[in-house]
Amino acid sequence: MSNKAVENILNDKNIRPTAMRILVYQTLSSSETAISLTDLENNFESADRTTLYRTIKTFENQGVVHAIEDGTGITKYALCHAFCNEEKHKDLHLHFHCTICEETSCLTDYSIPKIRLPKDYIAQDVDLIVKGICQRCNSSAL
Ligand SMILES: [Zn+2]
Ligand SMILES: [Zn+2]
Repeated sequence: MSNKAVENILNDKNIRPTAMRILVYQTLSSSETAISLTDLENNFESADRTTLYRTIKTFENQGVVHAIEDGTGITKYALCHAFCNEEKHKDLHLHFHCTICEETSCLTDYSIPKIRLPKDYIAQDVDLIVKGICQRCNSSAL
């Protein structure tokens, strides 16, 4: 994705497009799977973890990325759909954690089914992680 395209996206989300933010966005957009802060750190020789963490948190607050708890204890991040915004991440889709390659992916075309709750319970957020074997690992096993 070109610098100009990323600049436009960040401006739309009210984020000042610094060189670092553009690079972090490009790293996230080129990754097929969700990435952790450590993955991100390994991609950047010149940036410290704190700077990267702050960048991710800014992205999260402005609806650019969402955090995924995949049960490994390591928070992963992936880009949001264009219709997420800072008030509300509307992008409630399934996440898939592969037990072979240990990658976590967004299944953005598969939304979380409506959850029924007992009377007087109010859901504020739903995370749904499906665990199993991903498409890549499944096809390489054949
Ligand atoms: Zn896999
Ligand atoms: Zn996701």
